[in-house]
Amino acid sequence: MMDIKNSKRPFIIAGPCSAENEQQVLETAKQISLYGIKVFRAGIWKPRTRPGNFEGVGSKGLNWLKKVKSETGMQVTTEVANTKHVYEALKAGIDILWIGARTSANPFAVQEIADSVAGMNIPVMIKNPINADIDLWVGAIERFQKAGITNITAIHRGFSSFTASKYRNEPMWQIPIELRRRMKELPIICDPSHISGKRNLLQSVSQKAMDLNYEGLMIETHINPDIALSDAKQQITPNDLKRLIDNLIIRHRKPGDSDFPEYEETLEELRTKIDEYDNIIFGYIHKRMEVAKDIGSVKKKSKITILQPERWNQIVKNAVKKGEELGLSNKFVTAFLNSVHQESINQQTNIFNKTDEG
Ligand code: PEP
Ligand code: MN
Repeated sequence: MMDIKNSKRPFIIAGPCSAENEQQVLETAKQISLYGIKVFRAGIWKPRTRPGNFEGVGSKGLNWLKKVKSETGMQVTTEVANTKHVYEALKAGIDILWIGARTSANPFAVQEIADSVAGMNIPVMIKNPINADIDLWVGAIERFQKAGITNITAIHRGFSSFTASKYRNEPMWQIPIELRRRMKELPIICDPSHISGKRNLLQSVSQKAMDLNYEGLMIETHINPDIALSDAKQQITPNDLKRLIDNLIIRHRKPGDSDFPEYEETLEELRTKIDEYDNIIFGYIHKRMEVAKDIGSVKKKSKITILQPERWNQIVKNAVKKGEELGLSNKFVTAFLNSVHQESINQQTNIFNKTDEG
């Protein structure tokens, strides 16, 4: 039985995004089993953003996972998204089930799956919902707890976001940090593959997760990532997986439970929250500048001056009022807005000065 809490950190789960054929599954499994990895993952039923993409090999892939078990001794896990998947996976002897990010976002689906495993002795891993809503994640976990599942693990795979980012899914580390605060006993595993979306970010995201005290990592691994049928850009070879794990620096976890819960969040966790909020602020300032530039183009075409004093006074007045409600000083709000406004004017001036081409 998977026992993440009492295993040596990091607890690693590895295997391809999707099971594609028997040879790919078994070869990948054999190679990673040599590195002492205890749990093998592979998606059989793949939820895809648009129809027509590779949607998984379906039930026949379960036989390949059975072979992985018998030939390597690793435990196996796959994603289940409905009761039929659960039934087939359990019948095939899948050791651990995982709930995907799209499913976690849907309480009806989560409840149905939880009902179908009620009272069973099966470990369940629950990915965060694609939208950045901690209550939805907690809710999914609670549905399985209420169904009597005791071996539950959360998987942090990042959140979809509409601001530009180097990540495929924004990590928003403050959310799993908050999950840990609310559910102290729950093991948390990071899925750097779906956060990163590309190989060159995997090491740093994995390291971050270790520094934030996560129990483990789930990393997509494929014998030939470049020709993978799904998530090719983020999968790595078994060799690279080994290198990534060897390069991790595993620091000591903080000693025992503190008598002062208010101090339990580590400095690293608090700094991470600050970085995340700065990230969000700059993402929105970027969006604001893009709109300011569009306004610049409109003003240019309609021959209106850049500075519109009444409009600006109104913005400042609204912001100062809002700031007061939020406990921010007038001085700060005004200085901050002036600085943003100056940058907007500069960017609009650039547009005015640009000569029209064509
Ligand atoms: C996966 O693990 O391959 C997967 C589909 O993940 P997610 O549900 O996090 O998108
Ligand atoms: Mn994937």
